[in-house]
Amino acid sequence: MNRRAFLASAGVALSLSAAGRRVANEPDPVVVRVWFSESAVTHDALEDRVEGYLGGALADALGAVEIEFAGSTVALPHEGGKASLATDWPMTVAEGTVGMADVDPVGGVNLLVTDGDPRKQPAGYARPHVAAATGGAYIARMPPAEEAPAVVPYSVPAAATQLLLHEVGHALGATHAHGTARREGDALVASPMVGSYLWASERVREAQLADGSACGGAYPSDDGASERRLGLRYADCATRALR
Ligand SMILES: [Zn+2]
Repeated sequence: MNRRAFLASAGVALSLSAAGRRVANEPDPVVVRVWFSESAVTHDALEDRVEGYLGGALADALGAVEIEFAGSTVALPHEGGKASLATDWPMTVAEGTVGMADVDPVGGVNLLVTDGDPRKQPAGYARPHVAAATGGAYIARMPPAEEAPAVVPYSVPAAATQLLLHEVGHALGATHAHGTARREGDALVASPMVGSYLWASERVREAQLADGSACGGAYPSDDGASERRLGLRYADCATRALR
């Protein structure tokens, strides 16, 4: 290579790396693509609530997020249950990745929201880049996200909304150890990655929260806490785990 050709190619390399740095300063948004079941899509407010609550929490944690809604709905034999949430949906996403299903997955999170009963286990499911959550009818009953505080009293709609954050948190790499629970006066507040497990039976609590909190501090028991509240923002240490 003569000197002129070398300088020309070095010039190209330099301008590319400058462009690369510019891109690095503005991280690519994490894309969450959302599919609704045929039943969940009938709730008019659902799309707005998912975008508001999930988008708000992720934007807070990651800085940049895009919530996209798939143009098609997903036909399910059952709105809940392990087969629909933990087997069929991950399989559909995997098939979509190789063009064998009617879904077009993204590299971020592929989220299915159904109309299943969020009070029944399993209420949701997640693995890397794939999440499923029940409770569509309840999430749709929440007030618009911009009208809701970051911590709300426990209710089924709020628990279903927090479940959405919980499963998407898992799909982005956070575990139950990235949750926090704190006393706020007489209330006990659970962050999304701990969620309702905080108030589960001793056996379930033991199984799900045995590793303790990576966020520091033990989970307080709800002894003496007269009120249950749910946080709708990820804890700081969950934020560091999300990717
Ligand atoms: Zn979980």
